[in-house]
Amino acid sequence: MADRYLRFTGTAPGRFLTRGLGLPQPAELHRWSPEHPALKGEVLHLTAGKPAPEPAAPPAAVVLDATHVRDVEGLADVHAALHPVVRSVATSGRIVVLGAPLDPADHHQAAAQQALEGFTRSLGKEIGRGRTVNLVRLTDRAAAESTLRFLLSPKSAYVSGQVIEVAEGTGPADLDWERPLAGRTALVTGAARGIGAAVAETLARDGARVVVLDVPPAEADARRLAERLGGEALALDITAADAGERIAAALPDGLDVLVHNAGITRDRRLVNMPAERWSPVLEVNLASVLRTTDALLATGTLGEGGRIVATASIAGLAGNAGQTNYGASKAGVVGLVRSLAPRALAEHGVTVNAVAPGFIETKMTAAVPLLIREAGRRMNSLAQGGLPVDVAETTAWLAHPASGAVNGQVVRVCGQSLLGA
Ligand code: NAD
Repeated sequence: MADRYLRFTGTAPGRFLTRGLGLPQPAELHRWSPEHPALKGEVLHLTAGKPAPEPAAPPAAVVLDATHVRDVEGLADVHAALHPVVRSVATSGRIVVLGAPLDPADHHQAAAQQALEGFTRSLGKEIGRGRTVNLVRLTDRAAAESTLRFLLSPKSAYVSGQVIEVAEGTGPADLDWERPLAGRTALVTGAARGIGAAVAETLARDGARVVVLDVPPAEADARRLAERLGGEALALDITAADAGERIAAALPDGLDVLVHNAGITRDRRLVNMPAERWSPVLEVNLASVLRTTDALLATGTLGEGGRIVATASIAGLAGNAGQTNYGASKAGVVGLVRSLAPRALAEHGVTVNAVAPGFIETKMTAAVPLLIREAGRRMNSLAQGGLPVDVAETTAWLAHPASGAVNGQVVRVCGQSLLGA
């Protein structure tokens, strides 16, 4: 699992050699830890078209307000604002561009605002040194506070090239930003190991009482983790027809956060794929997600203020040879999110979003043959694989009580993979 190339390029001879050969230059990413909970340096706030304040020191992050940009002249202001500072942004720093929703009645505004997307994604691909670039389309800055805090923190180290839409809305008045999930219950499927275990740990760090769900053969691992986190284990195959009802019965006081993480692969090209390899993937990754979501909404187990975070994959967005079953299941998750999100919010007060991981260093990807693994690791703007905690931090942001205005989003945690948009 160790990324030896990343370690090698972190040394002076390694840097010299790989640079000379024109090879990828991954930078070690600064991730959240109790000792380093914030970016190292100031956040520089710029507004397109307004004079820029002189930064006292190289900024750790730049936020550029381009919400008012309505035409091509306005885009020149975006260039003028970022061109002089982009070089000085610290290693593993952040650029966040604030945009506005596209106006269907004004194609000049829509063109200019859509242009910000191409701008952001292009800058993400060239900026290097572990720095990320994201675009947030918002109408109400207060509703985007949890999103901006996430993007401007070490928690978003592997999220780049994303366009995130934040609607209007109000968050809870008194919020403990250190332990935002205190007093809330979160259930994570497939949480005995891998990404799910990291999600459980991160939600517990944020104060949640966590229910670690996994298949009966993984019960011992699920129990160990649950005990460590002060939560509970639930041994249950999520494909059981009554899985939703059984979860509801196990949680008579209700559930605040539901994370659909359990997933499997059964790779083979379609010509060689019998139904026995197709069905289980669609069952675990999609059918059970649909069934349990329906049951937990219908029983009222998930109610006002609830959060659903499903797990897609870049394979579902870009497609992947040998994964017609997996790609179909993960694209299905995206369809579920897009359709259900507005209705779930209107009818139940529950948001529905998805994370779409790219190459994440887990047992699943450690089993991939070396050359394909190396390609997967390097084919993204950060030139390295992500860690389970990167998906977990993104999930925690979407699960946040103050993220009620983030709904129907599919956020890739992929270091801006070259695959897919
Ligand atoms: P993993 O195989 O390490 O863990 C998956 C967990 O799900 C296991 O503990 C397993 O027992 C559990 N599980 C499987 N079937 C289940 C069922 N029927 N009921 C309950 N639990 C079940 O996988 P991972 O790499 O941690 O992936 C987690 C999620 O992220 C999956 O949905 C996967 O498709 C997705 N994903 C992973 C990557 C990656 O690079 N690892 C990339 C994209 C998406």
